[in-house]
Amino acid sequence: MRLVSFREDGRVAVGVLTEDGETVVDLGRVEQRLDTDMISLLGGGQDALDLVARTLDRADLLARRPLSSVRLTAPVPRPGKIICIGLNYRQHAAEMGLPLPEYPVVFAKFGNTVVGPHEPIVIPAVTEQVDYEGELGVVIGGRVRDLPLPRALTSVAGYMAFNDVTARDYQSRGSQWTISKSFDTFAPMGPALVTADEVEDPQNVDLEVTIGDEVLQSANTDDMIFTVAELITYLSSVMTLEPGDVIATGTPSGVGTSRTPPRWLRPGEVVKVKLSGIGTLENPVTGPPRYV
Ligand code: ZN
Repeated sequence: MRLVSFREDGRVAVGVLTEDGETVVDLGRVEQRLDTDMISLLGGGQDALDLVARTLDRADLLARRPLSSVRLTAPVPRPGKIICIGLNYRQHAAEMGLPLPEYPVVFAKFGNTVVGPHEPIVIPAVTEQVDYEGELGVVIGGRVRDLPLPRALTSVAGYMAFNDVTARDYQSRGSQWTISKSFDTFAPMGPALVTADEVEDPQNVDLEVTIGDEVLQSANTDDMIFTVAELITYLSSVMTLEPGDVIATGTPSGVGTSRTPPRWLRPGEVVKVKLSGIGTLENPVTGPPRYV
């Protein structure tokens, strides 16, 4: 199933995007127990997902909305954690001229960075070196700690496209990357959370980033240094992972900063992150906000 969050009547509701991709079923209109938010839904585990499936069967016209009339938000509008992994693709480490990491490189983004599909990535006034990083986003479904490798993927609720937008000049100001990754709007994600049962192998997903006709990143998640399962085992040995936590698993080669000349995002462009079997995340780029 493709789970979505969307704004309606002043609330953020949860829904399911239908097979044809044209209709959103407002789950809370059919089943009161699903009049809730994504984190609570995922916290209900498999029972809640089974209830969603049964609810779909009895969704009448009143609960169906054309996708074109719905404003999707990020599938998880306010994740408890956004944990990002740096340098997790062999070819990306090579293009950055850096050795393969011995342990996962972990940094964070905060809730202010989250935007949904079609919401703008805003170039801040203080930088012109804003770069895209197309990534496989993993959404946690359970409350887990110390998960052994063979069970790691059981904690995954689903997958979505993620763009780890980065201000490269801020990234090179120090050894810590968080500041360069934490501008408002720098974590577009979505459009839908595709449940884990529909993704046969997270290490075999094609990832492509395009702007207009330009194909900027094109890779497969089989180039990851640390697999999704290994990342979950590593992270859960440190911290409790909770429903709705997002892990951005790193970007492949082809980022703007490694190009000659560097290729920065410009207002008016639309960035697309396409993951095979998972969906395409599209975000326009706009200039800095004007404060009066
Ligand atoms: Zn990244």
